[in-house]
Amino acid sequence: MKITIIGTGYVGLVTGACLAEVGNQVYCLDTDQEKIDILNLGGIPIYEPGLESIVKRNVAAGRLQFGSDVAASVEFGEIQFIAVGTPPAKNGSADVQYVLTAARNIARHMNSYKVIVDKSTVPVGTADKVKDAIRQELAKREISTDFSVVSNPEFLKEGAAIDDFMKPDRIVIGVSDERAADSMRRLYQPFQRNHERMIVMDVRSAELTKYAANAMLATRISFMNELANLAESLDADIEQVRQGMGSDPRIGHYFLYPGCGYGGSCFPKDVQALRNTANECGSGMRIMDAVEAVNETQKVRLVDKVNRHFGTNLEGRKFALWGLSFKPNTDDMREAPSVAIVNKLIAQGATVVAFDPVAMPEARRMFTGINGITFADDMYQALEGADALIIVTEWKEFRSPSFAQMMQKLISPVIFDGRNLYEPEWLHSNGFSYYSIGRQVTK
Ligand code: NAD
Repeated sequence: MKITIIGTGYVGLVTGACLAEVGNQVYCLDTDQEKIDILNLGGIPIYEPGLESIVKRNVAAGRLQFGSDVAASVEFGEIQFIAVGTPPAKNGSADVQYVLTAARNIARHMNSYKVIVDKSTVPVGTADKVKDAIRQELAKREISTDFSVVSNPEFLKEGAAIDDFMKPDRIVIGVSDERAADSMRRLYQPFQRNHERMIVMDVRSAELTKYAANAMLATRISFMNELANLAESLDADIEQVRQGMGSDPRIGHYFLYPGCGYGGSCFPKDVQALRNTANECGSGMRIMDAVEAVNETQKVRLVDKVNRHFGTNLEGRKFALWGLSFKPNTDDMREAPSVAIVNKLIAQGATVVAFDPVAMPEARRMFTGINGITFADDMYQALEGADALIIVTEWKEFRSPSFAQMMQKLISPVIFDGRNLYEPEWLHSNGFSYYSIGRQVTK
């Protein structure tokens, strides 16, 4: 099939590459010319494990191309995926302006039937807005071409995006006509050869499903974080509690890890957008209000622990910080807890020397013009002369570090661990002060 992907970001590029991988012809469009140039020169503008080889293979095979020519992209694909950003607006709602611009661009150039697929995460009712926008543009051109609008929310996880796309748990398709449903079945057939993974539903339910899934995951995280804080007060160990809870199959072990809050480009904005939708409906969603409030305080919980140890005046203190991205295996720093932590430490007079295996270029960009943060070449260099280590992202290489080097390089052997990577008892007996989340407070 011939497919156009509008928006070549985390979702669009992965979708385009994976659809090309199974034999389709794919045109990836983006308004960001720099991104297109990087791709056309053989580079990959984002860090996503496994993506580069798929992109290279499919470009070489002539199945995948990148460009910024809107007319050519509309002409190209019988299916047009919209995978542009839907950032939060000031009131917390999802801003769908980029989705509607993409829809209008399609309508300005289309001359035959197209299936227009909304892959961006969008509030319920957006497909209707997309339809209206297209109808208006077609009316201006005095053209009456038929088209379908489909909702196909994306569930991939950054860091495991290729696997998630190639072997999806489920493919949610919201359709209002059989012709579009048939196209989507044909398109996704290669991704569900073992068993049916496609769940076909009405468009509004598909739009809500994406928010429901992310809201549920965010709820589990905030629930565990609040429980972890309670465990600290009660002198209980949240890691033992987690295992005890998770072994109930009705609960399961996934997404029960306490830490320093959720971040990224999806959970924070999707929780906000769902709250906003619920408020607009007049019902509100008290659970989501609490999920967000708990997350905001959890993001800086490590700084509270720093303050309990060092006081609130951190003038002259230097902290090593391991992990900047909002989770491992990505360079994405959108809404990362590290940003809130660094800003608060700097506001209290401290300096930070940070290290992250892949997110440092992005962090340098984000912290441009901010005094008080520098970047180390490796994880141990960051420790040199620091008063303490703060761990924010659970990259694999942080799990079993050289504690001897830590002891030698840190001014005082103090660790604030936002991801519960180490055994408190072991660290105590080896001379460290160790603060983690929801476990006994260090001596
Ligand atoms: P992104 O910011 O990485 O990429 C969006 C791209 O769209 C950018 O490159 C931008 O230049 C481009 N763009 C904007 N307007 C355009 C237009 N009119 N024409 C062509 N290109 C245009 O965003 P993302 O992380 O890929 O997310 C895209 C959508 O998918 C969002 O709604 C997001 O919530 C959702 N989503 C993201 C993830 C994730 O893990 N990143 C997972 C599931 C769903």
